[in-house]
Amino acid sequence: MRLVLLGPPGAGKGTQAEKLGDRHGIPRLSTGDMLRAAVAEGTPIGLKAKDIMARGELVPDPVVIAIIADRIKQPDAEKGFILDGFPRTVAQAEALERLLAQRGLKLDGVIEFQVNEGILVNRIDARIGQMRARGEPVRADDNPDVLKQRLSAYRGQTAPLIDYYRAKGLLKPIDGMRTIEEVTEAIRRALEAPEKARTQPAAPRRKSGKARGTRSKASKARKAARSKRKSKRRAKTAKKAIKTRPKQARKPARRG
Ligand code: AMP
Repeated sequence: MRLVLLGPPGAGKGTQAEKLGDRHGIPRLSTGDMLRAAVAEGTPIGLKAKDIMARGELVPDPVVIAIIADRIKQPDAEKGFILDGFPRTVAQAEALERLLAQRGLKLDGVIEFQVNEGILVNRIDARIGQMRARGEPVRADDNPDVLKQRLSAYRGQTAPLIDYYRAKGLLKPIDGMRTIEEVTEAIRRALEAPEKARTQPAAPRRKSGKARGTRSKASKARKAARSKRKSKRRAKTAKKAIKTRPKQARKPARRG
């Protein structure tokens, strides 16, 4: 199974990606985690991404595309993967499609986490406060100002993917404001729904959706109406032909 989880920061994608990964025995691939690891290790990619991430902006497409291209080739991703935080732009989505197509693969679905942004911001603020109070480390980009920038990047650059994937018939919207368990259940149902539809025996194809008996009656009526119209038309044309004939031809020959 190859899935994309799509939604603004703080919508709960990470939690659900972990659960999905565990359930299907496939890895969760988070570009955010990979970039944070690169920053921590001080690799060239990390050095490039550090300030951009701290500002809440998007790391350039070629950088993240190269990371994902390399990651999905790894043996543990052979059976599938859950993409969390990638793609984030249409260019990334197109690159992903190409990378998969090169290996004869495609996505199975895109889960869209629908959330109320106002409530989301309050939730994240509360969570950051609690973590700080407990003395837990807080992400550099988990602060109200950077969060605003991350949300704006989502709206401007990532949200167009909703239409992009809807047009491809891959989008599965779910209500992300429910409890973790309810969201998990909604995702499970969303993933099962198309399977059911596919396994249902296909109904015999008919030209019209009406029942056989009524259909033949209706078509008989239509046929009768058609032939009535046709004979009316014929009579009209014949009348017109007589009218437009030269007068001489119409008058009966005078007998001498
Ligand atoms: P995340 O952990 O998914 O919220 O990502 C944290 C930060 O990493 C984002 O705010 C971006 O700066 C960067 N990032 C992660 N994934 C991508 C991506 N697919 N494209 C661009 N930047 C990304």
